[in-house]
Amino acid sequence: MMIKDYRELTAAEIVRRIRAGQLKAVDLAETALQLADSEGRRLNAVITLCHQKAISQAEQIDQKVASGNELPLLAGVPVIVKDNIVYSGYPTTCGSRILENYISPYDATCIKKLEEAGAVIIAKANMDEFAMGSSNENSAFGPVKNPVRDDLVPGGSSGGSAAVVAAGIVPIAYGSDTGGSVRQPAALCGVVGLKPTYGAVSRYGLIAFASSTDQIGPLARNVADCALAYEAIAGFDPNDSTSAEFDHPPYSKSIEKLSTKKPRIGIPLEYVSEGIDDEVRTMIDKTIEKVDAAGYEIEKISLPHTEYAVSAYYMIANAEASANLARYDGVRYGRSAGREQGLDTMYSETRSEGFGTEVKRRIMLGTFALSAGYYENYYRKAQKVRELIKIDFDKAFDSVDLILAPTSPTAAFGVGEKSGDPLQMYLSDILTVPANLAGIPAMSIPCDRTADGRPIGLQIMAPAFGEKKLLTVAGQIEQMIGYNYA
Ligand code: GLN
Repeated sequence: MMIKDYRELTAAEIVRRIRAGQLKAVDLAETALQLADSEGRRLNAVITLCHQKAISQAEQIDQKVASGNELPLLAGVPVIVKDNIVYSGYPTTCGSRILENYISPYDATCIKKLEEAGAVIIAKANMDEFAMGSSNENSAFGPVKNPVRDDLVPGGSSGGSAAVVAAGIVPIAYGSDTGGSVRQPAALCGVVGLKPTYGAVSRYGLIAFASSTDQIGPLARNVADCALAYEAIAGFDPNDSTSAEFDHPPYSKSIEKLSTKKPRIGIPLEYVSEGIDDEVRTMIDKTIEKVDAAGYEIEKISLPHTEYAVSAYYMIANAEASANLARYDGVRYGRSAGREQGLDTMYSETRSEGFGTEVKRRIMLGTFALSAGYYENYYRKAQKVRELIKIDFDKAFDSVDLILAPTSPTAAFGVGEKSGDPLQMYLSDILTVPANLAGIPAMSIPCDRTADGRPIGLQIMAPAFGEKKLLTVAGQIEQMIGYNYA
């Protein structure tokens, strides 16, 4: 049975109604599957529908309700995951031809945790190939449309995940953020997105792009749902050697109560200077005024090495990607071509046919940066810059609790507007990559719209493992802004 007001329901409300026996998980799953198949396909935001498992997960929830068992955190909530998170039994394409027919034999830890939390996994979302991009125009399955307006990009690389949330297909989706890929599409589509502290969410089963910055993060239509979605997947995992043993508080509870002590907020000069669109700057200034008027201490701060962040990020991310993507050689995963002509031909044909232009560009740049004679000048230097960026944040957090800035220098841009100019595209990440390089948590919440209706995202950054404070204050600011998600 289709649920009429489905698109208005938050995840928290779904769980409440499931608990009260007012909604059936199977009805929710069917409604979400149908929307994913119609609206999701129209936006080109989904690659694979996970019909069979979704229905059986939903049935299990309904049985639990019927037998009076205790219900988990996300009981019955339909979710969509980015197609670089492996889910056994369904293809995991990573937005690439090279993995077009690849089916993982195991589940990512994030998937296991979602199943334990009672979530119902509806589909796998479209994305930039191997998560490389800021507009979702690099997918082998075609670009994703922004639900705000068809001629706009949704941002990337988790553009499919942002679009399905913005379009009301699911209240929660998951993406991955290596240099901004959760926050930037969240900003461009007008939803909330969180990049957790590096090590807070297991990367086991997340197809590797740049292993030292990759993190899975949730997207939702409000901060409370984002906290629920984060709580469900956070935590130590022995299967990921970079997973942190950290005692995670119940994030969804913490955001319910507003703390009495007002946090000190830093505004980095470098994030509101040149290169930022005038309208974005004006709207962010207005939001900061509201926060100021609400009695929060606002302080101007400086993160002096910000100007080197994009260069350092693209050096490090490409170097790591060139190593991580070496495994796609026609032997084990997905596509294989030219086998009959011997090993060398198989490698080159598989990779020439399988990878798209942007992925090839990055593998070549990354291989160069790591090669003997260049390593010291490029890769090593970028690592030193990374350390300076981290130190900038450490110093800033000595005097402030949180940092506010825009998420993206512009609102959603047009399809085709930047796709021919990689440098322009890379500059879209100028405000998001520093948090990845420093490993700190950061989120984007919608704060306003441009005159022509394109959403603008406010970025909030916190010290490592400061998600509780981050989500709490984001919830407070969300109330001050009163953004209308519709
Ligand atoms: N846009 C950035 C890039 O292309 C970030 C990607 C990401 O976070 N996955 O590398």
